[in-house]
Amino acid sequence: VKASNSLSFSLQAKMSRPVQARRLEGIDKNIWVDFVKLAATYSKVNLGQGFPDFPAPEFLTEALTRALSGGNHMLHQYTRAFGHPPLVKVLAQFFEKLLGRDLDPMTNVMVTVGAYQALFCCFQALVDEGDEVIIIEPFFDCYEPMVKMAGGTPVFVPLRPNPPKDGRLMSSADWQLDPAELASKFSERTKAIVLNSPNNPLGKVFSRGELGLIAELCVKHDVLCISDEVYEWLVYDGKQHIRIASLQGMWDRTVIVGSAGKTFSATGWKVGWVVGPDRLLQHLRTVHQNSVYHCATIAQEAVAQGFQRELMLYGKPESYFVQLPKELQQKRDWLVQTLDGVGMKPIVPEGTYFLVADISQFKSDVPDVPNSDEPYDYRFAKWMVKNKGLAAIPLSAFYSEAHKNNYTNFIRFCFAKEEATLKAANDILQKWKQEKTS
Ligand code: PMP
Repeated sequence: VKASNSLSFSLQAKMSRPVQARRLEGIDKNIWVDFVKLAATYSKVNLGQGFPDFPAPEFLTEALTRALSGGNHMLHQYTRAFGHPPLVKVLAQFFEKLLGRDLDPMTNVMVTVGAYQALFCCFQALVDEGDEVIIIEPFFDCYEPMVKMAGGTPVFVPLRPNPPKDGRLMSSADWQLDPAELASKFSERTKAIVLNSPNNPLGKVFSRGELGLIAELCVKHDVLCISDEVYEWLVYDGKQHIRIASLQGMWDRTVIVGSAGKTFSATGWKVGWVVGPDRLLQHLRTVHQNSVYHCATIAQEAVAQGFQRELMLYGKPESYFVQLPKELQQKRDWLVQTLDGVGMKPIVPEGTYFLVADISQFKSDVPDVPNSDEPYDYRFAKWMVKNKGLAAIPLSAFYSEAHKNNYTNFIRFCFAKEEATLKAANDILQKWKQEKTS
């Protein structure tokens, strides 16, 4: 009896120590885990998470079918760790065109498991204990925990809204950085800034002037730029996506992050990439070879063929990169009209497939709970999916803890959806508005 007692004591003692690594502290919550589950359980119309519900282009799915059963059985085996050669080659050719500089496919490009792993490699490879990383709010939520996991400290700077005075709808361009405030965030501790243009969630497309300001500060303070450009082709109203790496002094300090999921409407394939100078990418390769090592060959082969097609059709009307934004712009306009019509004021996005809308006029339906830990927009989005069957994402999820409570009157919709899905959303909102007024 004595022996078994002491055994159970020692087992208990072992189990009482924390099992998780310290770097995981405080980063266990994830908005997508919660809201994807809610949408799966309750939604009739899901405009929450960012993925298209229309098919990926046929040329891409046909390329995958060919890769799968086209006779080259080696496509079922490992390929090069840092990217399947046909894919890195065509990405280098493509980005040479976009950036106007020569690129080496083996050292200036690396393929990753979606842009998500590309970001993870950036932070792990470039951020040290004690480094500060500037993040522009609102931001794609994973930047903050990824910086922290690397031992860095996120420093936030907000895009500040300037509501238009002339009665027109607000645009994502009305959200701007305050130059003095941005400059004040740079110090000798700053290692990098994360730029996301076009920006998720607002859809803001940074102008040449805004990018010039960021570039100037990066050069002045010798700071790196992690440039998340996954929505690079989704730009509307004749606006141009400008690559910060093409500005003076920026190539050597910028890593461009991209995503085939967003580019070819195939988010489930999880093929992403980084493009940048070897002096930075060599360290990303170290992280990659010691974590994921290598990405699915067959998906890379099909994406390579998709890019080969796009390279041939570059700028032509048949190009997917020309057609997709045209179609999405119509969907955006449709959702803008619906939301404006019911009084859920939209902020018209210049890019991406997201749209942020003001829920102030609908607040009376969803009672606030004073002193609750949960931001109001979380409560609203949860109520909306449970009671109306319409899923969206609260905007404050894209803010740091300290600033969340300043932005609880907005929700984000994804409009990369079939016409029928957008119509169904319209029906829900119209009915809701009628119930409110009758
Ligand atoms: N960056 C941004 C800004 C995103 O919105 C997303 C996906 N929602 C990603 C990166 C991740 O992309 P992927 O699906 O290719 O991993």
